[in-house]
Amino acid sequence: MRDLLFATMILVVLSVLWIIARAIILRGKCLDDEEIRAFVRGKIDGSSSEYQRMASHLGTCEKCQEQMRMIQFGKPLDEHLVEE
Ligand SMILES: [Zn+2]
Repeated sequence: MRDLLFATMILVVLSVLWIIARAIILRGKCLDDEEIRAFVRGKIDGSSSEYQRMASHLGTCEKCQEQMRMIQFGKPLDEHLVEE
């Protein structure tokens, strides 16, 4: 009985570690154009884990935010270049 409890605990710890590791790996990965396009056009289910990943990544990654603006407005933000 104690062995079963121990095995269950190990399993719980491992699955928690797996979830954390997976979240870190997925969040670190940049979105590609297709993913951002689908996100912008509302093609991703808002309750899906995919949406959660994209939303949290877009919240922290400037590169993907820039990419999203380009897809939304069809051109890069280049106001800072115009001033010269
Ligand atoms: Zn990114």
